[in-house]
Amino acid sequence: MDHSGRLNQVRSALEPAGVDALLVTNLTNVRYLTGFSGSNGQVLVKSDRSVFFSDPRYEARAGDLVQGADIVIYGNKLTDVLADHLNGAPRLGVEASTMTLAEHSEIGEALEGVELISTKSAVEDIRRIKEPAEIELIRQAVEIGDSAFDWVLDRLTPGATERDIALDLEMYMRREGADEIGFDPIVGSGPLSAHIHHTPSERTFEKGDLILLDFGAAVGGYRSDLTRTVVLGPSTDEQRALFAVVLEAQGRGIAAIREGIPCRDVDAAARDYITEAGHGDEFGHGLGHGVGLDIHEAPRLSRISEHVLSAGDVVTVEPGVYVRGSGGVRIEDCVLVTPDGAEVLGRAPKDRLIEL
Ligand code: ZN
Ligand code: ZN
Repeated sequence: MDHSGRLNQVRSALEPAGVDALLVTNLTNVRYLTGFSGSNGQVLVKSDRSVFFSDPRYEARAGDLVQGADIVIYGNKLTDVLADHLNGAPRLGVEASTMTLAEHSEIGEALEGVELISTKSAVEDIRRIKEPAEIELIRQAVEIGDSAFDWVLDRLTPGATERDIALDLEMYMRREGADEIGFDPIVGSGPLSAHIHHTPSERTFEKGDLILLDFGAAVGGYRSDLTRTVVLGPSTDEQRALFAVVLEAQGRGIAAIREGIPCRDVDAAARDYITEAGHGDEFGHGLGHGVGLDIHEAPRLSRISEHVLSAGDVVTVEPGVYVRGSGGVRIEDCVLVTPDGAEVLGRAPKDRLIEL
């Protein structure tokens, strides 16, 4: 991981953002820039040097992990030492989407004569383009997800509950080498498969249920995100038709992906097909999102996205159709944007509705 290179990229972004230094308080951004993972850490990026701050609980870990920045451990709080390291820089950028109002006023009061300037996605924009080592970790997380899907199919039987399966997935992925789960698994069955972000319940599976599984692993902090929908067979014509619409929409979305295409056009490629098939009102979310250290990060694939795809983006493509009262189908894969198209990461089967 090229932490110094990342810090240099932030340095080049200081002047365009109209700041002399940037205080990074978003913990995911702190991890990205320095390698530190823990519950308390900040990074001050200045034109000549970077400083990592934390408290004594993390002194040893910071020494092991932090790269590219000097380490300062404060006894009490950041504002006790921040001014000393700012050296009078008059304009300090802060991360508007992370900093609370209380932190903002505390820092403002502690730094007399310093103007706090809100910045948006300064580090997030740099995080979008994955280095080969990051892509490798995502591939490992995807592989654990794929193998969990293969494994879990045998456990999807009448009488099992959504919560059982969510827990099974979680334990399997950790056992297979995930350092954590990518996010809380979604397991929705029968009519509950139509709830887009369902929390697994005690509902027991019944014959004829659609079962929607949305889960992923994290390796070295990098996440994967996979959705498959299966049926406790035999399936109905309507279920197979729904699956075919979603699969075709996903194929069209993936086919639209290439460097330089606006994300809203990729969303439209899938959404227009679903609308033509008569299900436009039943696809109530964006087509996908970036995946990396966060499960949801830039860029967004949606109708209102302002992002344009670049080679090195890793995004999900996850159209769905949710029929209230009967069930939903979603199919999701992680996709690497390449100069001339897209590479689907992963191998979980999807060519037809799996009947169990
Ligand atoms: Zn997902
Ligand atoms: Zn997703």
